[in-house]
Amino acid sequence: MKKIILLILDGLGDRPLDYLGGKTPLQAAKKKNINRLASMGMVGLFDPISPGIRPGSDTAHLSILGYDPFKVYTGRGPFEALGLGMDLRPGDIAFRGNFATVDSNMVVLDRRAGRIDKGTDELAKALNIVIDGVEIMVKEGVEHRAGVVFRGAGLSPNVTDVDPHEEGKSILKARALTEDGKKTADIINKFISKSYEILENHPVNKQRKKEGKMPANIIMLRGAGIVPELEGFNKKYGMKGACIVGVPLLSGLCKLAGMDVIKVPGVTGTVNTNMENKIRYAIEATRDYDFILVNIKATDVAGHDGNGKLKKEIIERVDSAIEPFLDNLDKITLMITGDHSTPCSVKDHTGDPLPVLVVTEGIRRDGIDEFDEVSVSRGSLRIRGHDVINILLNYSDRAEKFGA
Ligand code: ZN
Ligand code: ZN
Repeated sequence: MKKIILLILDGLGDRPLDYLGGKTPLQAAKKKNINRLASMGMVGLFDPISPGIRPGSDTAHLSILGYDPFKVYTGRGPFEALGLGMDLRPGDIAFRGNFATVDSNMVVLDRRAGRIDKGTDELAKALNIVIDGVEIMVKEGVEHRAGVVFRGAGLSPNVTDVDPHEEGKSILKARALTEDGKKTADIINKFISKSYEILENHPVNKQRKKEGKMPANIIMLRGAGIVPELEGFNKKYGMKGACIVGVPLLSGLCKLAGMDVIKVPGVTGTVNTNMENKIRYAIEATRDYDFILVNIKATDVAGHDGNGKLKKEIIERVDSAIEPFLDNLDKITLMITGDHSTPCSVKDHTGDPLPVLVVTEGIRRDGIDEFDEVSVSRGSLRIRGHDVINILLNYSDRAEKFGA
């Protein structure tokens, strides 16, 4: 049995760019090691969820790990809270929160509290309270945004939003959409009033008022979702899994699946991340783990920035970082692909398929020695997210026979 490494270059897929001579960043990049790996194995096209579906990184990774995102993805609340590094447990109810400004009649004056960009950490901390036995956790996000988590018995995500989505209107009362949402709606309403009491005279807001800024004197909740209970990865596949990822959204997701998160020095989740360390640690981790997921976020960051030259450079850095894989193919089954396309011309995720390669000693060779969106279409693979682990189990001699 071989060990498995799955390298996800986040947002890898792209479209042709004039300033790269009509090539995608991957086509334009010099990448002798990736091409070498492609030539030694099988290549093809990969749809992380299904052809044409535009995945988020969360839904794509769920699908890649073998969880049906249409069943287990319970909305943005829980996954954004994971992205903020909040420690979630199955059954918690998570919301997207935003700090806003209201007058004393609860009429919204500014839904973004004057685009507050400082002090929300202190405001969030002040809102970590307990109401009727339900523990409430708040964590600041970018600008006016925050993650809010309710933990306790008898909670349900079946409640309405309180954000009126318009200034000059009153904050809405949360209502239960089903019988089981009553308790949660009640706690939301108590929490919103309480947040006004706590925030209105908070030192951060006193200072803001002094400076003529809108006070962030209330928090509004929307997008309630229950943190899903994922079948443990290790039990599901009979192998010990770990991940090496720079962004909290994905490490949180791996933790929910019961995988260990390996900390690697120099990993930032940005374009300056230390890729060499990630690859080195992944290979070392094969001593203790059967399966290691490695995510490199930098390619996606460059795609969102619309910077094709940077994306090409990042791919070239990845290419030199992955050289050690070439010496380990007798022990490792390796797959390299992405979780979705992030074309620089679109600056967001699209449903374009991605190139994928799978390689290990003794595998068939498609004879394609270029790894890019177009060349791999001459290869043998046409796969989706839910095929990934099965293919890796097969080529690492771990798959169980289906039938006699
Ligand atoms: Zn992604
Ligand atoms: Zn992205």
